[in-house]
Amino acid sequence: MFKHPATSAPTLRDLDTVTRNMTAAYILATLVLCGALIFSYFTLKNILTEQSRLSAFGATANELSTTLSVSNLYLTDLKAAKALPPSESRLVPKISAQMHDVLSQIALLKKTISEQLISLQAYKYYDDFDSVFYKPPHNISNKIDQYTNRLKEISAESTDNIPGNDLLWLPVEATAARNGALGKSYASAMQKLQVIIAGRSNHLASTHKALTLFSLCIAVLELLLIFLPLRHRLKKVNSNLVSAHEDLFIQANYDKQSGLSNKAGAAKTVQSELAHQRYSCLLLISLDNTDNISKIVGPTALDFFFQEFVKKLRLIDTTENLIFRAGDNEFAILQSNLITETNVSAVHSIKNELSQQLYIENKIVYPKIRLGYTDGPITSDNLAVKLIDARLAAQQYRHTENHIPRYDSSMRSDIEDENLLVEKIRIGLTNKEFIPFYQLKVDAKSGLICGMEALCRWKQSDGSLLPPFKFIPIAEKSGLITEITWQMLDQIVADYNAWVSHGLNPGRVAFNADEIFLREVNFASRITKIVNNTTATNCPIDLEITENVALGREDEVIAKACSVARELGMGIALDDFGTGYASLSSIVGLDVDIIKVDQSFVRMMSKCNDSKNIVLTIIYLCKQLNKKCVVEGVETQEEYDFCRSLGCDEIQGYYFFKPAPFADVLESLALEQMKKKAG
Ligand code: C2E
Ligand code: MG
Ligand code: MG
Repeated sequence: MFKHPATSAPTLRDLDTVTRNMTAAYILATLVLCGALIFSYFTLKNILTEQSRLSAFGATANELSTTLSVSNLYLTDLKAAKALPPSESRLVPKISAQMHDVLSQIALLKKTISEQLISLQAYKYYDDFDSVFYKPPHNISNKIDQYTNRLKEISAESTDNIPGNDLLWLPVEATAARNGALGKSYASAMQKLQVIIAGRSNHLASTHKALTLFSLCIAVLELLLIFLPLRHRLKKVNSNLVSAHEDLFIQANYDKQSGLSNKAGAAKTVQSELAHQRYSCLLLISLDNTDNISKIVGPTALDFFFQEFVKKLRLIDTTENLIFRAGDNEFAILQSNLITETNVSAVHSIKNELSQQLYIENKIVYPKIRLGYTDGPITSDNLAVKLIDARLAAQQYRHTENHIPRYDSSMRSDIEDENLLVEKIRIGLTNKEFIPFYQLKVDAKSGLICGMEALCRWKQSDGSLLPPFKFIPIAEKSGLITEITWQMLDQIVADYNAWVSHGLNPGRVAFNADEIFLREVNFASRITKIVNNTTATNCPIDLEITENVALGREDEVIAKACSVARELGMGIALDDFGTGYASLSSIVGLDVDIIKVDQSFVRMMSKCNDSKNIVLTIIYLCKQLNKKCVVEGVETQEEYDFCRSLGCDEIQGYYFFKPAPFADVLESLALEQMKKKAG
């Protein structure tokens, strides 16, 4: 069954806003997180670089300290070698040479140390190094310089003068002593420096730790404040979208009013059952009078009407069939059985069943349906075409006949191009091709001509005559029916005047007026002019309206048009009575003079007692209400006798006259006049 769409289904704009906000928050949080991580990474990198430089510096410093001690040992050795007898003095140059190597090593280490210091100073240790290395009394660098210079001097002297002056060794000893002090001072400076650097390292490490913690917090916050709500929201949006999608699917495939599948839904079902090739016949049921039903029950109860109508449809349907809503006022039944001579009665019973009265909001309405069908295999691809075919067939349906039109290709070529037909009607109007034929009516008691009904025919340029069902529906749809009716009326008046001028008595002439015609803006002035054009003293024209139009007289415009017509002396006839939606009781309040019993009842009288009873009841009711009763469609003597016996006033039917052109009517009137004179 139909499910109503969820009212809270998110729109795409909602989704867009949510996505945009969440994405912005996500990007922001990710940027912060990335910033923290980058900062943390560089901090860690700094720490590692500083630590590696520091350990390199420490290693170089240790090596320098060791080398200084070694140089001290060489000095001691050199001193000892100088004290040896001259025969042993060959040791002196050897030790001096080793001394040289040590000195150059000291120079190299000093250079490395100063480079390392520069690179460490880049890390803002300048002040620390400055205080440790360059400020008195610990100007170690200078002291190293002094020391190495002195060593050089001593070793040069030692090499050149062997054995040298004992005194010469004093400064060396002093220097060596000082070197010991220098080593100590140097070591303590190094220790101090290491403490400072370790402090700095700790600071960097704690910054790194804090940043890591910060990143972790951001990640957790991101998870709690963004990801989880986003996931929740998206889940909700997603479930809303799923239900909106389901609703859309339902809306796209089902008809809200009736709960049946619509065309798209039916096509899907047909497609899913394609393998079985189930359906071979499409029967279209078109409701002709929903506008009027809406007027009776009110537009809000129309849904209820459709539901009741569909209930009936479902009752008559067999399970193999697929019923769907084919249009605003159309339902279709796809069935596997073809409509044949043998089962056509089943379809008739569908029609009868569906035309039965329905009680809607305490009002009785009669659905007026029209049927048409098409056969051949039905697939999802040809379903739309098959519908059009069945619709074309249904357009040929005549309430007055018991025949259900089956589509054949000639229908398509006749009516296919609606626009072309409208254009042709326009041309026909210009060429005055719409002419009245007249069907004479007889007085039921005397059997004498008492009047006639003008029925429109389209006399085309090739001389062929088109019956009304071929063009009236399109003329009504396009509004051109109004001009056709005026053209008809002009001709009716001209013909009437001509018969009278021949000394004949045509009686009253009725014409068919539809709702659009009565709504014509200039209706009052134009109809007055036409009536004034007749040569008769009293207006000889009657106006036929259908039940649907008659009930619409609650509508001011229609009511006004009818009262103008009455004031001019026109009678108002209710045409095709019994086929519309008006109930018997509803004619009580209708301001009409004549009731025309629909020919379908007359047609069924011989077969069905109910029809007889309907005719009988309507005639009886007309008598009671003092309205003239005309029975249409009398074709046989029995029908005539029956109607006459019931006391109907006038008879119209093929039994007496078929619709005929002006000249034939002239002849019939003249003959009648002659008979009258003779008899
Ligand atoms: P209607 O006004 O009910 O006209 C009666 C129809 O029944 C006519 O069909 C007539 O030829 C047919 N008929 C009369 N007696 C018999 C009978 O004994 N047996 C059978 N089988 N049929 C009979 P027609 O001329 O084809 O007109 C059909 C309908 O077209 C009319 O029904 C009317 O509703 C509409 N129509 C005709 N002319 C006009 C017009 O000028 N304006 C409008 N708006 N509608 C028109
Ligand atoms: Mg009529
Ligand atoms: Mg009629």
